[in-house]
Amino acid sequence: MKLIFIGPQGSGKGTQAKAIARKLAITHISTGELLRKSDNEEIKQALNKGELIPDELMINLLKGELDKCERGFILDGFPRNINQAEKLDNITDIDKIILMDISDEEAIRRLQGRRICKQCNVEYNIITSPRPEQDEICDFCHNKLEKREDDNEEAIKTRLKAYHNKTEPLLAYYKDKLIKINGEQPIKQVTQAILSNLGMLV
Ligand code: AMP
Repeated sequence: MKLIFIGPQGSGKGTQAKAIARKLAITHISTGELLRKSDNEEIKQALNKGELIPDELMINLLKGELDKCERGFILDGFPRNINQAEKLDNITDIDKIILMDISDEEAIRRLQGRRICKQCNVEYNIITSPRPEQDEICDFCHNKLEKREDDNEEAIKTRLKAYHNKTEPLLAYYKDKLIKINGEQPIKQVTQAILSNLGMLV
């Protein structure tokens, strides 16, 4: 199965994409995660400001990842605009698009509480969930949790603006394949809603 998860920053795309990919035994491809591993200065600067990476660079990186997928995939963070969607159409066919629908107010609230453990690559949220057992400490390695560099107020505004202006037009582009999920429900309920909309037993 080939899926795209779409939604504003903080909508839970990454959390759900990981859970669903595990359940369906397909590959989770987060373009944000791929880019955060890069040493390229142009990429690092764009990430910190919350700006999009140039399309050609992004598509070339993604192609390499798609070539490795044997059973199917979930794209989390790609495509981010119509040009990227058109380029993707030239490479592969997508089955369904899952929209994680949340308000901007809820997105901002969640991003302000987001923390990561850079050691274990685990994500927490000190305002919503999953909360760490001890404040600001990773449950697994006990290192101090950190904010993502682009979860600062300026970058959050830039990223949400880019989502509304550039990414939201994809909802019309993919209207025949679109599944809309209420992303403001608890994590487990969102997972169940996605699976049942995909026709999977829950
Ligand atoms: P995310 O982890 O999906 O929130 O992405 C973090 C950052 O990575 C974004 O703010 C962009 O700077 C960059 N990025 C991720 N995916 C893309 C994409 N498809 N096109 C361009 N830039 C991207």
